[in-house]
This record gives sequence, C-alpha cells and structure tokens, in this order.
Amino acid sequence: MQPDTSLEAVCYPAANFEPRREGALVSILLLHYTGMASAEKAVEWLCSAESRVSCHYLIDEAGRLTQMVSEQMRAWHAGDSYWAGETDINSVSIGIEIHNPGHGLAYSNFPEKQMQAVEALCVDIVARHRIRPELVLGHSDVAPWRKSDPGEKFDWGRLAGAGVGHWVEPARIEGDAGFGLGDEGPEIAGLQQQLADYGYRSEASGVFDEATEFVVTAFQRHFRPALVNGRADHSTIDTLQRLLAGRPLLGS
Ligand SMILES: [Zn+2]
Repeated sequence: MQPDTSLEAVCYPAANFEPRREGALVSILLLHYTGMASAEKAVEWLCSAESRVSCHYLIDEAGRLTQMVSEQMRAWHAGDSYWAGETDINSVSIGIEIHNPGHGLAYSNFPEKQMQAVEALCVDIVARHRIRPELVLGHSDVAPWRKSDPGEKFDWGRLAGAGVGHWVEPARIEGDAGFGLGDEGPEIAGLQQQLADYGYRSEASGVFDEATEFVVTAFQRHFRPALVNGRADHSTIDTLQRLLAGRPLLGS
C-alpha cells in the first residue's frame, strides 16, 4: 500500500474496508477524534479486524500521519449517520481520525503541530477530490444522537482560514435562555427546518424534543463552540441563519 497523499505518511493497512457503493464519489471529508488513551493504541484498534471499524487516516498529537485505508475504498468510520439525505456516509467520504482522548477521558486542546498536520492533509484532500467547503464535517454533525467528536475544542475557524470548511464568525452570546427541551410552536418548526436545510437530520415537528437538542448541541460544537448547551439562543440561531445565507446553492 502506498499513501494517496504527497505529504509524509506511513502506511499501516486496516483489515476492515471494501469498495465504495457503486457509482459513489467522494463528496464529504469527515473529521473525528480517536477518543482513546494513545494514538498507537488507536492505530492498532482501527487496523484490527475485531474492531469492526477503520479510517483512512490518523494524525497523532505530534502531527505524524498514518494512512490505513486507500482513499478509493470505503472505510468504516461514520457508522449510522446522515447528512442532507445521504445515509451511507462511509461510501461518500474520507475519514480522518485526529488523536485526542476525547470527552470520555481527558478532552484536551489539539496541539499546534497536530493542527498544522490536520490543516495540510485537509487542504490536500479537499483539492484532490474537489470537496465543497460545506461538506467538511465532524462526526457529531452526521451522527448527533450518538457522537460528539471532534468536539468544541477543535478549531474549525482556523481550518476555514486555510480554505477548508464552511464558517462564519459565531454571533455574540447575549445571555438569553433561548429555546430548549419541551418548547413547542412555529418558531421551533422553523429552527428545525433550517437545521435540516443545512444538512442535519432534523424533522420540522414543531416540538423541541431530545433529537432537536442533540442536533443543536452538534451545531454548537462545530459552529458556536464557546457555549455548548443544546439551547437555541439568539447567537445559535443567528449563526445558523448566516451560514445558510452564505452557502452556495446545492448543485451549483
Ligand atoms: Zn468519530
């Protein structure tokens, strides 16, 4: 196996992968954290048959890059997931695991060396596969009901500065309580519809239920990371609306 990137990388082939769904093209770049104690253990796990998971790349805390699955192939990193109508995210994505112990262990800032490597690899992949900015996503965006990686400490704004991903400066937090669990009405339906329009799995039921709270939490982790509380306050809604307004029309 040879690396697909011209960046310096070692290859450590994974056991779990297969051809992508017939006709599927890479349209999504999906970022994860490993959520494990060490990058070495994460590579071993991601490459083992018994794990039933795998990923194309892993970047350790020092910025060293390991490729485990060929970009041509379908790796098993997204699991049960959804974005803009697509449920087989593995068939249409390239996955990068960024080593970090994660929320369950000792969630920590992503070191500068690591972020430099993440940025370089993302720039490379996005250019080679012509991935649209709004389709560079976190695992929590496509599976908000069960995932929180790469999480609110991940610097999406920095990546956007390098031309990777869709970003607007988050609106100022005003301290209003906003909408939350149990609220009902047309404003809730409107919020749910806007989240769905952006790509999230969100049904415009008009009831702020647990699923809505998960989606709002995922949105905040990515786009308004200063406060992640699952409540749709002015700042959250304003940030979402500016993202929607600034997004190129689908298909263009
Ligand atoms: Zn993940």
